[in-house]
Amino acid sequence: MLIKSIQELIGHTPLIELQMPVPNNSHIYAKLEMFNPGGSIKDRLGQYMIQDGIDKGKINATTTIIEPTAGNTGIGVALATQAHHLPTILVVPEKFSREKQTLMKALGATLINTPSADGIKGAIKKARELADQTPNSYVPMQFENPANPATYYHTLAPELIEDLDQPIDAFVAGAGSGGTFAGIAKYLKEQNSHTQAIVVEPEGSILNGGPAHPHKTEGIGVEFTPPFFKDVQIDQTLTISDADAFKYVRQAAAKQGLFIGSSSGAALAASLKVAEQLPANSTIVTVFPDSSERYMSENIYAEPTTEN
Ligand code: PMP
Repeated sequence: MLIKSIQELIGHTPLIELQMPVPNNSHIYAKLEMFNPGGSIKDRLGQYMIQDGIDKGKINATTTIIEPTAGNTGIGVALATQAHHLPTILVVPEKFSREKQTLMKALGATLINTPSADGIKGAIKKARELADQTPNSYVPMQFENPANPATYYHTLAPELIEDLDQPIDAFVAGAGSGGTFAGIAKYLKEQNSHTQAIVVEPEGSILNGGPAHPHKTEGIGVEFTPPFFKDVQIDQTLTISDADAFKYVRQAAAKQGLFIGSSSGAALAASLKVAEQLPANSTIVTVFPDSSERYMSENIYAEPTTEN
């Protein structure tokens, strides 16, 4: 395969049928988004949002791009802006993985850290302040930009339909900005109104009404209900503990040769719960957003101790 730009490798990732015991003889298929060149599902978003800004005349040849991010979107945005030679500032809460922050800088972006305690809201505020001070700047703002769910509606969701012959009974995905879940759930329900859409969050995220608190599962969990959820019917919200998410991260590597990040571990834990609820032989589709290699500095494969 000869390619001329790394951008050509974004999307059309493999869909794997997991080879593991699944309740009720159901089948779980996972979209392996770590196979995107920047290593995550968010390469699609960077490419789509920057092109959308260009097409809408919001970005010209000298625009500075400023974006708040937990990391993977920053890498995706930096890959896209590098291709267009656009100066880029990414605002990242300190707590997110070293690996992601190193890669954003390696791509040429300027990184600004905000205090972990201020969460993603602190990064959003800082990005807006920087934009006010920077002439000819543009903040794609993944947390409210309709191009975010549109990315997944137009790319990943049709790939699922293309790759599977049978109807999808349930779609299971984690939510950070909520773009992945909302865009794919909307598309799949338009194709088949019987497809259930199940959103996954870690303990400490607010969707199921529990108190907000820090969690180790990285990339998912919300501090406010994503605005994109207004446009899609959510059949169920499953809250997965850090312990369960990391248990499946270890199991996926040990049993299936799959290096998955903790949000993928949570998606797998949730998919198995959904399999328990659905009739026999159901088809469940989920998304593995990134790889464990992004979290080595956080000891992602450490066995739990008695304290946790
Ligand atoms: N998993 C990981 C590892 C992520 O980086 C993200 C994006 N923050 C998500 C899941 C959630 O995706 P979305 O923002 O589309 O809800």
